[in-house]
Amino acid sequence: MSLQPVAPHVWRINIFNFVNAYFVRNAEGEFVLIDTGVRPALTQLKAAAAELGRPPIAILLTHGHFDHAGCAGELARAWNVPVYAGRLEKPFLTGAAAYPPGDPTVGGALAQVSRAIPPLKFDISDVLEIYPQDGKLDVLKGWQVIETPGHSPGHISLWHEDDRILLAGDALCTADMDSVVGMTTLKPTQFARGGTPFVPDWKEMKHSLGKLADLEPATVAAGHGHPMTGGSVPEQLRDFYHEFAPPEHGRYVGTPARTDESGVTFLPPAPPDPLPRNVAIGALAGAAAFAILGRGRK
Ligand SMILES: [Zn+2]
Repeated sequence: MSLQPVAPHVWRINIFNFVNAYFVRNAEGEFVLIDTGVRPALTQLKAAAAELGRPPIAILLTHGHFDHAGCAGELARAWNVPVYAGRLEKPFLTGAAAYPPGDPTVGGALAQVSRAIPPLKFDISDVLEIYPQDGKLDVLKGWQVIETPGHSPGHISLWHEDDRILLAGDALCTADMDSVVGMTTLKPTQFARGGTPFVPDWKEMKHSLGKLADLEPATVAAGHGHPMTGGSVPEQLRDFYHEFAPPEHGRYVGTPARTDESGVTFLPPAPPDPLPRNVAIGALAGAAAFAILGRGRK
């Protein structure tokens, strides 16, 4: 059983103990898939949809990074459904541009792994739709699309007001992906920075976190880590927001990258990257990432 219940109408699929996708059932009993993991997850996602008894009627992306949009094109074409993404993610999902490059100098376990992550460009322009401006979707009534830029320019989160469920993508994590233990075990479950080496704008990220904290969600299910639920979650998220600080140094920490609807318009210069002392960790982590990603590349 690959589907783990998060709420009565939300299921999580944990892909390679690394990244999550979610199936959400709408009021009509139809399913929508939120995020699509890395490319090698294709079989797992198809099997999960089969478990539900019917293919989803749409795919919604929180953002277009390789570990969220990896199977979006293949699944959308197989199921003949649209893929929705934020307006400012469009250049990165139509083959027009690559995201600002990851910053391996920013520190932490995921930054080490990022050395081995190739700059994948997706072109799913044949199936791509942009979220409507009012953030409301016919395919998923009762849910609100909330713009949460920072981790990526057009990043969105999904909010179910009545049940107070937040699907946060990489606006935050619920495991510390900056530590080797957190990244490999996803424990302890806690609020943490979302995808540190890939964040091009830390100020926007904090601003988006404030928006999410104001929602006071009872359940938070993110792109990485186990979902968090319970009475203390709103307070924990509020504390996380107030204490949130960018890394001490890094390419995008002082000056953000700039992007628009055509792609990247400004990049701060890359800091020198003398491979740090823990080369061994980086090499090991890199090999693991290649093992996962490489299998799925065409
Ligand atoms: Zn991401």
